[in-house]
Amino acid sequence: MLQQTQVATVIPFWQRWMRALPSIEKLACAKPERVLKLWEGLGYYSRARNLQAAAKQIVTEHNGCFPDDPEAIRALPGIGRYTAGAIGSIAFGRAQPIVDGNVTRILTRIFGICENTKAKATQKILWLLAETMVANADDCSALNQSLMELGATVCHPRQPDCAACPVRRSCAARRENAIDQIPAKSQPPRYVEKSIEVYLITRGPRYLVQQRPEGAVNAGFWEFPNSENGTSFSIPKNAQPIATARHTITRYRIKLNAYSIRSNRTQGKWCSLNELRKLPFTAGHRKLLKGL
Ligand code: SF4
Repeated sequence: MLQQTQVATVIPFWQRWMRALPSIEKLACAKPERVLKLWEGLGYYSRARNLQAAAKQIVTEHNGCFPDDPEAIRALPGIGRYTAGAIGSIAFGRAQPIVDGNVTRILTRIFGICENTKAKATQKILWLLAETMVANADDCSALNQSLMELGATVCHPRQPDCAACPVRRSCAARRENAIDQIPAKSQPPRYVEKSIEVYLITRGPRYLVQQRPEGAVNAGFWEFPNSENGTSFSIPKNAQPIATARHTITRYRIKLNAYSIRSNRTQGKWCSLNELRKLPFTAGHRKLLKGL
């Protein structure tokens, strides 16, 4: 939950989640739609799906007990090198390294690494440094947590609090007056503008909605019928949308224009507004739903 999301934002999600799914078994048995609903608003929904897949794997392959073997941890869905290192070192005290955005910033500054941090060669150096550090640490859990905490609270991307930094004497970037140049800035993403027509089709107080198919982005989430190229329904040329919403996902800046449409279409599910609010909705469509 905390990947790319601040602690204050996560707390109510975490509390709701733990009330609904307090154990690995409960998560493994939950309906996928319930899991998505609990995650709704946090984004990066593959994490919720992977979490449930991992819970199922732990139940079937490890008797419901989280494995402590590094290989078994890495074999769980959604767990990459960083997460495996964090779990291994913090939960089980193993000398496993972690390199995330915060750790990258600290290591590049301390060791004066000016190269692009996304480059394979630089990543290799960063992981090697982190590995050497945990291998020489008395308490690798404390070391890894300190690195993450230092990055989050002292070594900020802009205006780090160097006077309060416990490693300031070892910091090459500070010594060389190069804090603003390290880590090297990567190119800002180029956004692509997209416009999507959304069709609000009603039958009395009910709205027609459809579920996103398996394998698609946001699979399993619900949304109003829509079309990216405007070919599903013909909208009169001068028609004005009755509602609009804006939403950014990865490199796309999306504008949703919602039109009220008459149609005999039956593919999908007819729901009242109250029923719609209980379904997991994609972010842009949820904004439209709030306006209805
Ligand atoms: S001295 Fe400043 S730049 Fe260097 S690690 Fe500490 S906070 Fe970051």
